Amino acid sequence: MQEQAFFNEGERVGVLTTQPLDRCLDYRAPEGGCHLGAYVEVPLGPRRVLGVIWGPGAGDFDSAKLRPVNRVLDVAPMRDEMRQFLTKSADYTLTPLPAMLRLATRAPGLSDPVSMRKVLRPTGQMPDRMTDARERVLSAVDEYGGLAFTAKELADLAGVTTSVVKGLVKQGALREEEAPRDLPYPRLDPDLPGKTLTDDQAAAANTLGEGVAGGRYGTTLLKGVTGSGKTEVYLEAVAATLRAGRQALVLLPEIALTAEFLKRVEQRFGATPAEWHSGATMTERRRVWRMVGQGKAQLVIGARSALFLPYQNLGLIIVDEEHDTSYKQDEGVCYNARDMAVLRAAMCSAQVVLASATPSLETWANAEAGKYSRLDLAARFGSAVLPEMRAIDMRAEKLPASTWISPSLKQAMSARMERGEQSLLFLNRRGFAPVTICRACGGHVTCDHCDSRMVEHRFMKRLMCHQCGETKPVPDACPTCQVEGKMAPVGPGIERLGEETAALFPEARIAVLSSDLFASARALKQRIEEIAAGEADIILGTQLVAKGHNFPLLTLVGVIDADLGLQGSDLRAAERTFQLMRQVAGRAGRADRPGEALMQTFQPEHPVIRAILSGDEEAFWRAEAAERQAAGVPPYGRMAGIVLSGPELPAVMDLGMALARNDGPLRQIGAQVFGPAPAPIARIRGRHRVRLLIKASKGTPLQDAIARWIKPARLKGDLRLSVDIDPQNFF
Ligand code: ADP
Ligand code: ZN
Repeated sequence: MQEQAFFNEGERVGVLTTQPLDRCLDYRAPEGGCHLGAYVEVPLGPRRVLGVIWGPGAGDFDSAKLRPVNRVLDVAPMRDEMRQFLTKSADYTLTPLPAMLRLATRAPGLSDPVSMRKVLRPTGQMPDRMTDARERVLSAVDEYGGLAFTAKELADLAGVTTSVVKGLVKQGALREEEAPRDLPYPRLDPDLPGKTLTDDQAAAANTLGEGVAGGRYGTTLLKGVTGSGKTEVYLEAVAATLRAGRQALVLLPEIALTAEFLKRVEQRFGATPAEWHSGATMTERRRVWRMVGQGKAQLVIGARSALFLPYQNLGLIIVDEEHDTSYKQDEGVCYNARDMAVLRAAMCSAQVVLASATPSLETWANAEAGKYSRLDLAARFGSAVLPEMRAIDMRAEKLPASTWISPSLKQAMSARMERGEQSLLFLNRRGFAPVTICRACGGHVTCDHCDSRMVEHRFMKRLMCHQCGETKPVPDACPTCQVEGKMAPVGPGIERLGEETAALFPEARIAVLSSDLFASARALKQRIEEIAAGEADIILGTQLVAKGHNFPLLTLVGVIDADLGLQGSDLRAAERTFQLMRQVAGRAGRADRPGEALMQTFQPEHPVIRAILSGDEEAFWRAEAAERQAAGVPPYGRMAGIVLSGPELPAVMDLGMALARNDGPLRQIGAQVFGPAPAPIARIRGRHRVRLLIKASKGTPLQDAIARWIKPARLKGDLRLSVDIDPQNFF
């Protein structure tokens, strides 16, 4: 049945609001009527809230009491495909629709009227008398083609005073006009010359380009080692999309990546694209949202939530570093941007490219099963080769107490110093030391609100909880036994490693890269650029450095504790360690100098360490896939996590037990419930947390069963229940 697309004034309409209600509300269409999908403002109690015309009204509300929609907002209506996407992703993630709508309207001032500014345009008429200054202004106008500027902008561009510009208005050479404040993005030119691709790269680019030109849905895994030219290749797919007159989205995992990336896009297409991430200003976000909706932003570079922008004609989504865990949001609306990208593309006949040197097992398996296509870039571009990888067997190394750089690693670093090359030490632990312990009683400092140990950050001179961010000074007396002066750091954090490095290499320029040491993303970006330009001899980094930065002088990577990721009960521990180690090793030898990666380990014969060193990736994936298949866990089985939380533990536990007892809907589909059990982090921000885990076989209607199962649960008082489909983090 065809949906009704327009509602005349006074007709009953159903409005989905961003308020936490479990249904659409009925209103009357406003004066002048409204389109299906229109963004509107509606009265709700004493307030006015944002909503979208979702369909005809349900008709079950007394028509005498029906209130009219206040007004239709001056933005493009939501497209059908977007309504379907929000509905399907809400169903998939078991998120209430209003929360999905909030995600899709996260731009400030959407309900404000479009703000205007006075701009100047040339009339074609010449002033009575031409002066140098006037000439400069007019040629500036000329140079920028149809773009409009304010008097001040124009004066700055031409290097004259505003009175010269005003003079031209008086003379009739320029005309004042009102124009919206949010400007369209400059046009990108797909036909500027790109780099000359290698045969391998060109073949991959052609295949992707054909996919885009075909105008159908499809997902492709683009696999290639770091530096093999994946970015060059997918930029050609972007070019094909622009040529087809459609929009492209490039998702990146880490905001720190964008500086380098934007420069490359600008080089390729001659202008900067739209940027969408938490670091963007409010005005910028509003501009992106509006322009994307009007089709006046051809390319968006963004973080995961850019997936929920109101594209008018989305033809391509790139998910770069698709294995990256930051694509999974596990608070609030729990979704995986990689999976939602595939869903979104399917709704709008777009292509998806999942790019990675070390794909997730999910994606690898989808490619194996033929659901995704797969393109491999075999070699690194140019003379760069993968670094040689070796283990340093820590059982055979002699280190002084409380130091972590082995003599073998130190020697390799010295050699780099002498040759003027860079070394990078990788340790995935922020702060000074992971634990602060009392040498009198063995007690340690825990967070007052969470069930976690506090981590010393010497840079801030405080202890910090990595769960809730709470900080406190390092106590002089032990909080348990009150003995003074016995609190001591145990184990290495990145800051402590910095001290050790400085002591070993007093003459070295050392750069520590850890997210918490930088006041802003911008400061971090800048530091990374300086380092790439050679302003450091030794770089120390947490997982931040594993992600795609280019350090041409880097020829040695030292992994301080290769065993770190192998501990723990996470089903993805082996996969994560494998990916991280290979990514970090990929930092070395990107330019014309060969690199070396050394991994300090106490278990050099561990299968994961061996697989990393051997370089036989397919063997690793096959072995890992076989283990998961045998255990019936993702991607060969399905999982969901339920976290219950509340201020009082007994009430939370009772709710968990009640759910576990009444598991009929789950049993119907053959799913199992585990728990309730205290979550691995049993308390966060003062709330007790209890977890249930659900396991089902592939192909079962898990979401539907969970929805029926939790529906009767009564969330009294301050109890909360959150569902995480395909959980990644077990915390
Ligand atoms: P990846 O995305 O796989 O890590 P990139 O696309 O970033 O690889 O390529 C690595 C480096 O090599 C970049 O500096 C890139 O500009 C350069 N490069 C790759 N392919 C070519 C090419 N065909 N011609 C010139 N430079 C290239
Ligand atoms: Zn805390």
